[in-house]
Parts: sequence; C-alpha cells; structure tokens
Amino acid sequence: MRIVLLGAPGSGKGTQAQRLIDKYRVPQVSTGDLLRAAVTAGTELGRRAKATMDAGKLVDDATMLGIIRERLGQPDAAGGFILDGFPRTIPQADGLAALLQSIGQPLEAVVLMEVDRDKLFRRLTGRRTCRTCGRVFNVYTAPPPQPPPCGGQCATPDLFHRPDDSEATIGKRLEVYESQTRPLVDYYRERGLLARVDAEGEIDAVTARLEAALAGRRR
Ligand code: AMP
Repeated sequence: MRIVLLGAPGSGKGTQAQRLIDKYRVPQVSTGDLLRAAVTAGTELGRRAKATMDAGKLVDDATMLGIIRERLGQPDAAGGFILDGFPRTIPQADGLAALLQSIGQPLEAVVLMEVDRDKLFRRLTGRRTCRTCGRVFNVYTAPPPQPPPCGGQCATPDLFHRPDDSEATIGKRLEVYESQTRPLVDYYRERGLLARVDAEGEIDAVTARLEAALAGRRR
C-alpha cells in the first residue's frame, strides 16, 4: 500500500495512520514527527526547522524532499507506506511523483480527510501526545484514560501539548494549508488518485470510512 493522507492540521491524519499501519503492515511516514525528532535530537536539521515550525510555516521543499527520499529508502518502506503530512505543496508532490516513478512504485491513492474548520480549532487546542509512545489524545473528544495517561501502553507516559498547537499558531497553520496545500486536492483529482472521506465524528467510524475508501481505490 502506497498512500497519502491529505488534510488540514487536526483532520486526524496521524490518528488514522496509526490505525492503518497495523492493518496494512506498512510504516506511517509523518514528516512532522521526523522534524520534531530532529528538533529533540538537536541536529542541524532540527535547529534549522524549529523556528519555521513554531511559526506555523512550512519548511522548504528541497529539505522536505531530502527527508522523504531518505525515509522512503529505508527497508521498512520497501513494501509501502502511509504518508502523513507530506506532500504539502505542489513542488513536493511533483518531487514525490518523480521519486516513486524512478523506483516503479507509484502512489495508489490520496485520501482527503474533510473536517469543518471550526472543528479543527477545537481538535488542535485539545490535542495531547504521549511523548513515550506517540499516541494522540484529545482532552475534549478522546481524553486519555486516567490513570495511566496514555492508556497503559507506556511504562512512563508523558503527555504534552505541541507548541504549534497554540491558538496563535493554529490560525497561521490553517492559512498555510489553504494557500499552499489545498491546491493538491485538484492536483491529485486530475491524476485520478483522490478519494474524499468525511473525517468528522467518532474515530472508529472515520477508520471504517477510510478503509472502505481505500478498498475501492487501491490499484
Ligand atoms: P505536522 O505534524 O504534520 O502538523 O507538521 C508540523 C510542522 O512541521 C508543520 O507546521 C511544518 O512547519 C513542518 N512540516 C511537516 N511536514 C512538512 C512538509 N511536508 N513540508 C513543509 N513543512 C512541513
């Protein structure tokens, strides 16, 4: 399976990707997670990306394509992947297409996860992530069980609120999505790859709709 989950920040790409990886046995490739790991590790990339991420803006396309080329070249991605948060611009989509074409492994589907803008704000301000296992919760809609906070998956659960999920930055991120990422909807529709999924409501119901959409789209 080689798919892209496309959608605004807070549309549930990460949450749903985490569920699909078990079923399809392919890795989730989240460029946001890769960048956050670089920031935490204090690498050169992390130092360069941090200010851009904190401002809710996009890291440059050449850097992102380099990251994705390296990640998709790792052995666990040889049998497929679920891209989450990449591509986010037309040049990234073009670069991805060229990369996948060069290895004869084109995308099978791009799923657009549709959520009302008002709901996105609430999801992002309420989002909490377990630093240890990466599971994502929402204090309003999917609260972590108490105790332990991450649902018993981790020995040392540790929830945090992403700095770019602050109200001030969310507006900027949604604006960037509309201007730079939304054009990918037409881009992939024109290439016959786009499936739309209603990503509002219960997480399980969204997963079921996603799986149904994928069953109908995979080539
Ligand atoms: P995410 O976790 O996907 O919301 O990404 C967090 C932040 O990382 C974004 O707001 C961007 O600053 C950066 N980022 C992640 N993926 C990309 C990408 N494909 N292109 C540019 N910047 C990205």
